Formats: sequence, C-alpha cells, structure tokens
Amino acid sequence: MEDCIFCKIVKGEIPIRKVYEDEHNLAFLDINPRNPGHTLVIPKKHIEDIFSASEDDATVLVKAIRRVAIGVRKATGARGISISQSNGQMAGQLVPHILFHIIPRTEAEKGLGLEGVLPIKKQDEASMDSIAKKIAGSIPKGGSAERPAEQKPAESPPEERDAPEEHEAPSTESASPSEKQKIDFDF
Ligand code: AMP
Ligand code: ZN
Repeated sequence: MEDCIFCKIVKGEIPIRKVYEDEHNLAFLDINPRNPGHTLVIPKKHIEDIFSASEDDATVLVKAIRRVAIGVRKATGARGISISQSNGQMAGQLVPHILFHIIPRTEAEKGLGLEGVLPIKKQDEASMDSIAKKIAGSIPKGGSAERPAEQKPAESPPEERDAPEEHEAPSTESASPSEKQKIDFDF
C-alpha cells in the first residue's frame, strides 16, 4: 500500500533497526520504546488488522512472533514479556498495518497487567451468560479473512457490521459447572 509507513519500511524506504526477517515477516525496534528492546513484528504484505488476515496469514505471523519473543527475552534478560496488538483507532491502533508489540517488562512495573490500562468492570451472571452465548454464536468456522483487503475498516458498532458466518452456539445455560467454567474461561 503506497502511503503505509510500514509498507515503506518493508520496501527499505525508511530506516529501521531490524532484528529479524523471514520470507513473510519483519521485526524491528519500535522507534518509541516502552522499555529497552521493545520490538515490532509485522507481515511484509499489507494487512490492516486481525480482521483482514486470513488464517494462513495469522499462522505465519504467530510463528514469527514466538521466535522474536524468545529472542527479545534472551537478549534483554526480561523475566516477563508482554505481547500486544490493537485493532482500530478506538483500540489505539496508530498504524493501519497489523503489528505485534513484543515488550520486555521490568521489575519496576511490579507485574502491572491489563488492569493498568483497562480497569475491571464487573457484570452480573446473566449478562456474562448472555454475552458469552452471543460471542460463541458469532465466531466463524475459520478460513479466509473476515474483511477483504480492499474493504475499508469499519469503526461502527458490531451490530452494524456484516453478519458473521452462522454456526451453532454452545449453550452456556445447559452446561455443567466445569463445562460452563471452561466456556467462560475460553472467552
Ligand atoms: P500501534 O499503536 O499498535 O499501531 O503501534 C504503532 C507503533 O509503531 C508505535 O509504538 C510507534 O512508536 C511505532 N512506529 C511508528 N513509526 C515507526 C518507525 N518508523 N519505526 C519504528 N517504529 C515505528
Ligand atoms: Zn502497509
């Protein structure tokens, strides 16, 4: 994509501190490190976000993420590594080319996790059951990207987006406690 900064990086038009490259992926230091060794992993082809990635794209990418995370941990000696990825401006995605942040974590952060960014918002049991069922019924069987490459991303609410591929939702109401826990946990 012409005006994508990361596509320009892939073409060698913008200098980077490259740490890894394979046929499909590139990894380099983030120009604004949140901690020393903060590395980005990107696909070489322009994929806007997780919804524009096919399962094959995702598989190839995750293999590279794993490799790079191993290298970042070894090189920095970090005892914790956070891996993060954002989809859409609402989620804080700045560059519209999918990327994964591999961030070494330090003692000084005292184990701060997701709650540091997004505080817990407890929901009642019925609401939890309801959203679990709705999500389970919305998950596609897999395969190609949900959004073709040429389609612009929507920042609209989920109900305004294309209906997902239909399949049978597992019922959380009839599940045994252990099954129910597993279903809840999987989300
Ligand atoms: P995100 O907000 O998840 O889209 O992350 C975008 C990241 O790309 C930010 O952490 C930026 O610091 C980083 N970034 C932007 N331009 C460059 C660049 N030319 N080289 C390295 N990292 C960059
Ligand atoms: Zn791009």
